[in-house]
Amino acid sequence: MRLSNPENGLRCAIVLAIAVLTSIALRPSGGFVFSQEPSRTITVEGVVKPATIKAAAKGQPGIAESQAETMAVFAADGRQIPIADDEGGRMFYLDPAMRGREVRLKLIEKGQGRPAEIIQAEARHEGRWRVPQYYCDVCTIAVRYPQVCLCCQGPMEFRYKPER
Ligand SMILES: [Zn+2]
Repeated sequence: MRLSNPENGLRCAIVLAIAVLTSIALRPSGGFVFSQEPSRTITVEGVVKPATIKAAAKGQPGIAESQAETMAVFAADGRQIPIADDEGGRMFYLDPAMRGREVRLKLIEKGQGRPAEIIQAEARHEGRWRVPQYYCDVCTIAVRYPQVCLCCQGPMEFRYKPER
């Protein structure tokens, strides 16, 4: 009987595998599991502290490999959102003075426990929301996280962005 031939069964398995792989490759979003939970931009108020829940998917871009701890914003509604150690979130990793303060963060939430990307961070200072930054007085350059000045290699000092 042809159908019981083991060679036919193998061929069938290969054809099936190709069909599955092709359908995954052709999926428009290109995503596997993450496509179910799209990114969204939200504004949260809360406090940034070391996360007590581990961020998922270590080793993905934007996730601190070298940092022992992941920072998270503990939102006023009780949610804990891990934040990425990137341009927008690095100040919370490098400057302990920025932790434990009342902050308002505009961020892109990635879902699936992956760290969120901070677009804008403000901290409550004397009753107002202010933008924290690190500033070189010599070159009048402001950056978003602690570092030596790219221009003069001098120190950059914390300040709130002047209000207009
Ligand atoms: Zn400088």
